[in-house]
Amino acid sequence: MTLGRSFTSWVVLVALVLLGGCGGDDGAAGDAGADGGPGPAWALAIHGGAGAPDRSLPVAEQQAYLASLERALRVGQEILERGGPSLDAVEAVIRDLEDDPLFNAGRGAVFNRDGAVELDASIMDGATLGCGAVAAVGTVKNPISLARLVYERTEHVLLVGDGAERFADSMAVERAGPEWFFTEPRWQDLLRTRSREGGGTVGAVALDRLGNLAAGTSTGGRTGKLAGRVGDSPIVGAGTYADNTTCAVSGTGVGEEFIRRAAAYSVSAWMRHRGLSVEDAVRRVVLEELQPGDGGMIAVDRTGRIAMVYNTPGMFRGAADANGRLEVHIWE
Ligand code: ASP
Repeated sequence: MTLGRSFTSWVVLVALVLLGGCGGDDGAAGDAGADGGPGPAWALAIHGGAGAPDRSLPVAEQQAYLASLERALRVGQEILERGGPSLDAVEAVIRDLEDDPLFNAGRGAVFNRDGAVELDASIMDGATLGCGAVAAVGTVKNPISLARLVYERTEHVLLVGDGAERFADSMAVERAGPEWFFTEPRWQDLLRTRSREGGGTVGAVALDRLGNLAAGTSTGGRTGKLAGRVGDSPIVGAGTYADNTTCAVSGTGVGEEFIRRAAAYSVSAWMRHRGLSVEDAVRRVVLEELQPGDGGMIAVDRTGRIAMVYNTPGMFRGAADANGRLEVHIWE
């Protein structure tokens, strides 16, 4: 009798332990599909800055931003759908947005106090924790690709200014003169010494069919910034982070605040150390650690679950996945 009760208790205990263990893993996977099933085979989220104005933005401008976001999403979708690497998708999406004058990266970068552009970008491979970044470059057409070359062709993580430009020379990276980077709206912003409410920093996070995560971010920084100022976008752990065991993250907003809080790494840390879902981890950082008005973040976890959270009036953003999701938004 006693033996029977102990045996029963033991069976119940083992069952509870097993259920508890599975619950943790299944909880993460279950987040991916609304039905609790497996998540999408690939997933992609992008942002075009958290400086979106209120809904008074003229409809024609709204449509232009949404069309640009959708075009960039489709660039990444094409790569991920055919089984390409998340790192390639992130780079290609960001290159596309860097060439679009609507966004504050590459061609549409804002001017610093001296009337020059200084571009920052970073990219991270969640499979290896390998990463590369460039800061304060003024002649590189697509800084995200130079950042990737820093990762793949040097033993360093971050190159800045003149040294980064000389590295670009050695890699025969495409360059552009001041005329490429001159856009009238950004010039007017500088004259008014404030950022126009409109498209901002660009970023992308992706999960590929092999289960690898990648993240990247590219920006012109803040209008009227001091020459030499570097924001969060090229700082791994602040504006960008990717780790296959947790998530891939890209942020946008007041870079100094993201740096102070190691914001992108913090999302990964909440998931790793406290078991938060990607949605809860991003909400924690954006809504509780950062201050209202600071910005927003996008993230994707290894199950394809996407989180896009901001504490500004809006954030230009989009999401796509292997289950047919394809959506772009500015506000809700
Ligand atoms: N985070 C960028 C920076 O501070 C700017 C932005 O995202 O709007 O350089």
